[in-house]
Amino acid sequence: EADRLEGQLPKIQARIDATRDTVQDVEKEKAAGNLGVPQGIYIICEFCGDLFLQVLKLLVIPLVVTSMISGITSLGDVRKMGRVGLSTIIYYFSTGAIAVFIGILLVVIIQPGNSADDTFAYRTDSVEAKQGQTTIEVFLDVFRGREGDPGSGMFPSNLFLAATNTNVLALIVFAIVFGGALTTLGDEGMLVIRFFNVCNEAVMKMVHMVMMFAPIGIFGLVSSNIAKNGGAAGFLEQLQAIGWYVATVVIGLLLHSIVLATLLWALGKRNPFVYTFNLLRALLTSVSTASSAATLPVTMECVEENNGVSNRSASFVLPLGATINMDGTALYEAVAVIFIAQTLGIHLDMADLVIIFLTASLAAVGAAGIPEAGLVTMVIVLQAVGLPLTGIGTILAIDWFLDRLRTTVNVYGDACGAGIIDTMVVQKQQAEAEAAAAPG
Ligand code: ASP
Repeated sequence: EADRLEGQLPKIQARIDATRDTVQDVEKEKAAGNLGVPQGIYIICEFCGDLFLQVLKLLVIPLVVTSMISGITSLGDVRKMGRVGLSTIIYYFSTGAIAVFIGILLVVIIQPGNSADDTFAYRTDSVEAKQGQTTIEVFLDVFRGREGDPGSGMFPSNLFLAATNTNVLALIVFAIVFGGALTTLGDEGMLVIRFFNVCNEAVMKMVHMVMMFAPIGIFGLVSSNIAKNGGAAGFLEQLQAIGWYVATVVIGLLLHSIVLATLLWALGKRNPFVYTFNLLRALLTSVSTASSAATLPVTMECVEENNGVSNRSASFVLPLGATINMDGTALYEAVAVIFIAQTLGIHLDMADLVIIFLTASLAAVGAAGIPEAGLVTMVIVLQAVGLPLTGIGTILAIDWFLDRLRTTVNVYGDACGAGIIDTMVVQKQQAEAEAAAAPG
């Protein structure tokens, strides 16, 4: 009997495949109908969108590894990292964490994505695998990885498997330690550091190239997404959800800017209104370029010339900030990912939120200061909680707009950091040195 049934298996499998193909065909036809276009056109739109997403995904690992290593090594020998370096890093990480926290809080309260239909409900293997574990175990697994999966966790036993699974958190941790180690190796280390710097530039050029195709890719993703989700009527509903999503990001960015200004006033002992007014040119440049790297020369000028921050602080804090300090991006990524989960009807538990908190903070560090870089590294956060990448399609249409806003907050965060570090560390050090040199 067993043999007989086994003999039937291939036939059954063939029928399953055929049925699945038919279902897919019907779905495509329905989607094309929703758009009111022939199926061929729908297939091309879907293809452009898929290809664009795939290339974005392709760039994630090279981008994160090279930009992380070149960012960390730009600090110089980690053993000699002085008070300025350490305070800057502490400032960047804590303001980044505050930004993500604000984002998560707002998106959980406002729930911009929960107007979407429940039929999008979707559960992933990783979400299901967590059932039966206590929250603390799930949290510890963020570090240790899931049982039987040597590529998962912050410290996986197999780095290549981690890369294969796009477990970017592990790669970031590895790159930070690796970069730090390189800075202690003298001239030979310099050789490798230069190698990674050049790789980073090349990868950034590639991102730039891909971004030239963004309009086509975005069009493909958005149109096929609209088609799959019920055409114009479904789109209206999505638009409603997107409106709240945009509002959530904007409110979050505003709140975070107020936090930054308050820190500048409390720790940097500077008038935040005057300081911000003097930064206007840099802020307008960031709105128009959507790139903190491109804005850097203007930021340096405004911070030094208009706000009187010392060159020693500005020349260290600002370039580093343009590479690793992305408060706006961190906030945006957390909001976007949780919004996507809400539209798909996926419930995120506390452990998922912790993972989002950690990965969004680090993914923003890994994002380059160029237009739409945050969109690329957002893949990290999505994958960390097992959400489908196609969810990005929902938010792509207005990303050009949000990119400009978050970039402006990125630049503002760097500029406030320069003011704070200058007052708290550099001026103090100078005063100490002068006191020591004074006779008597
Ligand atoms: N465009 C942003 C920046 O240059 C990065 C991002 O895409 O979030 O700071």
